[in-house]
Amino acid sequence: MATHENCREANNKKTQIKELLQSKPPSDLNSLLTINLSTLKTHYESQVPESKTLNLAVNLRSQSQSWTIWACPRCSLTFTQPQFLSHHVLEAHLRPNKELFSLLPKKAERRIVDEFLSDSSQPEAIRSAVQKLKTFDVLTETQLNILYKIDKPLKIREMVAFVEDLVSECSSSSSCSDKSEESEDERILVDGSKLVLNVKNAEALFSWLYDDEEEETGFCEWDDLKREKRNRGDEIIEKIEKELEILETICIKKHSLLRYKNAVVILEKVFLDLVARTGQNQEAVMRKIRGDLAERSGNDNDVLRHVAANVHKEVASMKASKMRNLVKVAMKEDTSTVEAFKMLNWDSDFEVAKCDAKLIRKSIELKLLEVKLEHAAALDHLAVVEPLVKSYLRRRKLNLMMLLKNEIKSEGVNRSKSWKAFQRAQLVCT
Ligand SMILES: [Zn+2]
Repeated sequence: MATHENCREANNKKTQIKELLQSKPPSDLNSLLTINLSTLKTHYESQVPESKTLNLAVNLRSQSQSWTIWACPRCSLTFTQPQFLSHHVLEAHLRPNKELFSLLPKKAERRIVDEFLSDSSQPEAIRSAVQKLKTFDVLTETQLNILYKIDKPLKIREMVAFVEDLVSECSSSSSCSDKSEESEDERILVDGSKLVLNVKNAEALFSWLYDDEEEETGFCEWDDLKREKRNRGDEIIEKIEKELEILETICIKKHSLLRYKNAVVILEKVFLDLVARTGQNQEAVMRKIRGDLAERSGNDNDVLRHVAANVHKEVASMKASKMRNLVKVAMKEDTSTVEAFKMLNWDSDFEVAKCDAKLIRKSIELKLLEVKLEHAAALDHLAVVEPLVKSYLRRRKLNLMMLLKNEIKSEGVNRSKSWKAFQRAQLVCT
């Protein structure tokens, strides 16, 4: 019964306040929308956490023109810009091997991609795949170079499959990109020593004040929110850590592929020079090179030996294939070694391009995690200031105004005089 009474009383009060707000001319409404910071601070003086957060929030808004601050989930350091936070997390908590970052693929220039697309000598299937890739803007220089280099019909099918894989990888990682946050006009602004409510009219003010009245809860919600955000941010940092490890592994693989590719280029040059200088047949020259390498030690020679062995294998398999196809090669100079070098060059470029595709995907995923981290670390202090201001208006300012209005009514003064008294009363309240 008592609850019923309370409820009716509260509704009555709300109706009176609504009438009061609606009856006020716009110029009077403005004074209600402006709150002296010192009065607000005094109102919350006895509530220490509220008072501290209010001060912090107002200082933040005055200094950085924003209610939002980004707090590191690991060490609680705060930043006024999200990119400073990302930089800090990377530098202070993750410390990746930056040398490896130099191996991240460079994007192919748009101009060169367009040139490629307009080149009618390129197979149509590949051009249409590149057209799709262009929309994601992720084709790398290596990949484009390989596409340019295609001169073996056999490789085209493999290449199309590769480019199509790349398209699906890029589209799957781009489709989950975060939507940017909706930017809403700030509801409360700081103007020197005053807070100004950014509310258009009496209707809007009333619904801002009372629409979510039931949701009014204690100040501990802000602490809960901060804790929840910190945990979420920490989980995201862990994910970033794992993704960086994978990125590092791919970079290491790319590094060794580049080393191998470099050895192919060096050995091919040595081989061609020797052939030109000695006039010996290609197989004899290659045998001599392998013999020399076998006597040397050191890591670089290991890679060169590995390349020489692969050239040997490639030549053997080419010969076996020619024999199977009954192609007579004995009479003229056997060019299998030159072809084997070409093949090795092609294969190593191809492997590097596949690595680049994986690196692009990982970079996109890392970028998305960075956006998620910035979102989780953002503490919008308006979320704590708004309920404090609302509560102050509902419980103090509007109450006082209602009291004064009722007093003026009971004194029976006329309407215009009552508004003057009312304005004076408001000055007292603010
Ligand atoms: Zn930190």
